[in-house]
Parts: sequence; C-alpha cells; structure tokens
Amino acid sequence: MANDGNSLKYKRLLVKLSGEALMGRNGYGLDNAVVDRLAADLAEALEAGCEISVVVGGGNIFRGLQGAAKGMDRATADYMGMLATVMNALALQSALEAAKAPARVLSAIPMPTVCEPYVRHRALYHLERRRIVIFAAGTGNPFFTTDTAATLRAIEMGCDAVAKATQVDGVYSSDPKKNPNAQRFERLNYSEVLAQDLRVMDGAAIALARDNHLPVIVFSIEEPGNLIKLLRGSARATVIHD
Ligand code: UDP
Repeated sequence: MANDGNSLKYKRLLVKLSGEALMGRNGYGLDNAVVDRLAADLAEALEAGCEISVVVGGGNIFRGLQGAAKGMDRATADYMGMLATVMNALALQSALEAAKAPARVLSAIPMPTVCEPYVRHRALYHLERRRIVIFAAGTGNPFFTTDTAATLRAIEMGCDAVAKATQVDGVYSSDPKKNPNAQRFERLNYSEVLAQDLRVMDGAAIALARDNHLPVIVFSIEEPGNLIKLLRGSARATVIHD
C-alpha cells in the first residue's frame, strides 16, 4: 500500500526536467540508463505518496532558436521543439512503466493516436489516481519555453511548488562550475531573480510564478535519491518565493 504522503513537505509537486537531463553525457538524444535512473527517482516519490507531475524539455533533440538561427521560420522551429518534448515524454513514460510507476503523457498539441491530449481535469484525475502525469509539447504555443509550461501547469494543478531539476544544488551568483567563488543562495525572492538576471528560468516563467505565488525550487537531480530528500525537506536547494 502506497504511503499517503502526509509527512512530505511537498505533497503535490511538478518537476521540470530539461531535455539535457535525459541526454546524460551524450551530446544528443537520450541516454536510456539516465532516463531509467530519473524514472526510479520519480517512482520513489510517487511511492512516498507525492502527487507528482513532470514537464520535460526538448533541448537534447531540437530547440526552436537553433532552427531560427539557421534561417527557419521561428514558429515552425518552435513546433519542432515541442514535438521533441513529446519524444522525451514517451521515453520517460516507458521507463516509469518499467519501474512499475503508472504514468500518462498529456500533450498540449493533440495527437490522440500517440498520447492523451492535455485536458486540465483529466490531468487532475490522473494525479488523484496516483499516476505520474507527464506534460508534453510545452504550452502548445511557439515563442514559449518548457520552463514557462512547467510554471503554468504547476499553477493549474494546484502544486505546492515547481521544482527545476538542474546539475547543481541551487542558484548561484555565477556558474559554480566555472567560478569557484560563486555564491550560492538559500532563498531568493522573484524580484531578486529578475533584477539580477540570475537565469533560473526565463523571465516569463518567473513572472508567472511571482504573479501566482508559486514557489520555485532549484535542486540537483545529479545525485540519485535527491528528489525524495527534497520532498522531505532535507535536500540542499534554493527556494524562490515572495
Ligand atoms: N517550445 C515552444 N513552446 C513551449 C515550450 C517549448 O515553442 O511552450 C519549443 C521551443 O522551440 C524550445 C523547444 O520547444 O526551444 C524545447 O523546449 P526547451 O528549450 O524549453 O527545452 P529544455 O531547454 O528544457 O530542454
């Protein structure tokens, strides 16, 4: 019998996984061992009683801006980027199901022979039935990012927070992999992130979180088991809030 999640700090959480997180050390595409490991972390969170959903990016396959830089029409290139997120979502669903964690992919661009279309009530229903919901195709609109999609879906789902999975344990004043003196922040408010251009998420995503008082957590997904620590309130992370 799964846990009821009452002891968790975050009972309903949306995790944003970038496409690059699924790529591992490969320069492109998916690393199945990495996808399996991420699925194991998500399955553990579900088992602990968290109502968990995921927005996956597509940067490991295609980014609209890259296409536009090569002369493509930007909106068309963005649609290609959104389709890339659907591939990642299906790979994650497959890994979750293999880990015995029921998962559903809901796409903002309807493709009913592949996965369910995004319908808010359906997503809420799946969460209540203890299924991991994977939101694919971003917001369904060009000129946005999956960070904005993550914030939007977290608000729609009534999540306690949106957790952005990165390679480092929070937000730093500059890249800690390049600058050993970079300062790590424990807490920040939305205005500090925007004013200091801290590049946690794009400005549209942070502004949406601010306007809806949604906490944004930046944590490391590199270390296996860190997601469950985050849910229990013991992971090193930066929390951005009012
Ligand atoms: N995208 C979009 N609208 C959205 C979300 C994503 O047009 O609402 C496109 C955009 O081209 C983006 C690509 O999908 O470059 C992949 O998403 P993103 O760059 O956010 O992925 P990540 O960096 O998280 O891997």
